[in-house]
Amino acid sequence: MNTYTITLLKGDGIGPEIVDQAVKVLDRAAEKFGFGVTYQRALLGGEAIDQTGAPLPEQTVQLCKASDSVLLGAVGGPKWDTLPGDQRPEKGLLGIRAALGLYANLRPATIFKPLKAASPLKDSIIGDRLDIMIVRELTGGIYFGDRGREDQNGVQSAYDTERYSVPEIQRIAHTAFKIAMQRNKRVCSVDKANVLESSRLWRETVTEVARQYPEVQLSYMYVDNCAMQLVRNPGQFDVIVTSNIFGDILSDEASMISGSIGMLASASLSDTNFGLYEPIHGSAPDIAGKGIANPLATILSVSMMLKYSLNQMQAANAIEQAVSKALESARTPDIAVAGLPTVSTAEMGDLVCSLL
Ligand code: NAD
Repeated sequence: MNTYTITLLKGDGIGPEIVDQAVKVLDRAAEKFGFGVTYQRALLGGEAIDQTGAPLPEQTVQLCKASDSVLLGAVGGPKWDTLPGDQRPEKGLLGIRAALGLYANLRPATIFKPLKAASPLKDSIIGDRLDIMIVRELTGGIYFGDRGREDQNGVQSAYDTERYSVPEIQRIAHTAFKIAMQRNKRVCSVDKANVLESSRLWRETVTEVARQYPEVQLSYMYVDNCAMQLVRNPGQFDVIVTSNIFGDILSDEASMISGSIGMLASASLSDTNFGLYEPIHGSAPDIAGKGIANPLATILSVSMMLKYSLNQMQAANAIEQAVSKALESARTPDIAVAGLPTVSTAEMGDLVCSLL
C-alpha cells in the first residue's frame, strides 16, 4: 500500500477550520481507495510569526521538502498588518514557493452544475459544463525581470522587463502538455506574439515541445483575444498555458466565472510534480472562528493533489463528484440558496465524506 506524508500548513484565520475538513475528506478517500496518509504540521504566516518570530521558519521548509505533498490553508490577518513588508505573513507564502522551486501555478475555473446560477455568465454561454485549467508560469517574466527608474534632464521614467529563457518556457510547456494528457488533450498557448519578441520565443518553444505530445492538440491565441473569449465562449478551452503576467490577469478573470471564491482550488508545482495545494482565497479574518467558512476550495485542493502529485486519479475524481453532489443538498452561507439547508464548515466536510 502506498503511504503519503503530507505537510499541513494550516496558517491563519479560517485556515485551520478548512484544512481540518480537507484532512477528513482525504482520510476517507484513503480508506476507500486503499492508500495511507500520515500528516506533519508546520508553521507558516502569522502563526509562525507569533511562535518563532519569522513568517517562514527553516523547519517548515525542511518538513515540506521531506513530504510527498503540502496542503496550505491561508495566511495573514489584521494582527500582522502593521509589520514591515519583509516580516509579514504573505512573505512566508512567497518564500515557501521559492524554497520549493514551484514554477507552475495551476488554477482551474470550473462550474459545478448546481452552482450555475452563481456565475455572472448566462446559462447559454456556460453550456453543460465548464472546466478550464490555467497553467501560469510563476517564477519568471516581467515580475522578476530587470526594473528601474531613470531621470533624464528632469524627466522621470520607469521600466520593467519581460524576459524568458528557452528552458523556462520548455518546463512550463511540459507541465501544460502533461496536464492536458490527463484531461481533454487540448492546449491553448496564450501570448502577444504579434508585438512582443519574448512572446515569439514563447510560441516557437511551445511549438517545439508540442512535438513530444502528438496526442495533444495545440492552438495559439493572443492574450487580448483570450480575455474576450473567456467570457464569450469559455467552453472552447481545456488547458491554457501562459506567462506570469498574462496568467495572473486571465486566471482572476476566469475565477469569476465560477461565481464563488470559496470554491476555487489551486496548485503550485515543481518539475518533479511536487506540489503545494491551496484554496485561492485568503484567511477571511471577518468570518474566522465562526464555523461558517466554505471548506470546498480546500477539499478540491486535495482532489488536485491526488491527481497531479500522488497519481490517485480515482480518488481525485470521486472527491469532485462528492463535492458536486454535496452542493445539491446543502450549502455554506457564502453560496446559500433558498430551498437548501445552510450548513456549517464541519457539516459540509461531513457531508462530502458521507457522499464519497
Ligand atoms: P479573503 O479571500 O480572505 O476574503 C475575501 C472575502 O471572501 C471575505 O469577505 C471573506 O469572508 C470571503 N471568503 C474568503 N474565503 C471564504 C470561504 N472559504 N468561505 C466563505 N467566505 C470566504 O481576502 P482578503 O479579505 O482580501 O484578505 C484577508 C487576509 O488574507 C489578508 O491578510 C490577505 O493578505 C490574506 N490573503 C492570503 C492569501 C493566501 O494565503 N494565499 C490569499 C489572499 C489573501
